[in-house]
Amino acid sequence: MIRKVKTDMNNKFVISLIGAPASGKGYISMCLINELKEKYGLKDSDVADVSVGEMIRREKKNGTPLGLKLQANMKEGGLAPDDIVKEMLIKELKNIDAKVLILDGYPRTVGQVREFHKLMDNFATAVIFRDTPKDLILERVKKRRICEKCGMAHNVGDGVCECGGKLIQRKDDSVLPERLAEYEEMTLPAVLELKNEGKNFFWYEGTAEGNDIAREFLEANKDLLV
Ligand SMILES: [Zn+2]
Repeated sequence: MIRKVKTDMNNKFVISLIGAPASGKGYISMCLINELKEKYGLKDSDVADVSVGEMIRREKKNGTPLGLKLQANMKEGGLAPDDIVKEMLIKELKNIDAKVLILDGYPRTVGQVREFHKLMDNFATAVIFRDTPKDLILERVKKRRICEKCGMAHNVGDGVCECGGKLIQRKDDSVLPERLAEYEEMTLPAVLELKNEGKNFFWYEGTAEGNDIAREFLEANKDLLV
């Protein structure tokens, strides 16, 4: 049985952000939040941003029961199984009480598309898909590093952080070719399914600027924001 999320909130707007790994979804999310606050007057507490990738990394790192289940069922660079992601998401969403929910990286399989519709049945939803060519992604990620010590993101290739920490590749960037292959095999069919449903599906080029995407998208959906 599928449990509904926060059935007492009928005016929630759920924005699903989909794109290849390292296609800049986190940046679009940030642009959406800024625009929602600046132009539409939303407060911090009105917007929630859930990155499914981060949620998975966190559960694994913290060794929660779900995290351990993931460890056992997921290969490096592979996608987490649909049922575990669903369980995690339901747990996460129970604590969220915001007007706008940005779901970064969900749904990303055909199975998750169906779950997504059931879970979000009571809410207005829209999908932002950023269509980024593989070459552009590989080029972008070449220089992407994080600080080993403080975790800060850098875009300079190998080097040293201001804090003195060594800059290293993100663990999931080192398996990017595998992640891209999995994206093409598992996520693109999900994107096609969402596109064919034709409900509030927004397609953007990989070179489109995050702020432009945020502005255009929210303008087109402004009726859902009041
Ligand atoms: Zn640092």
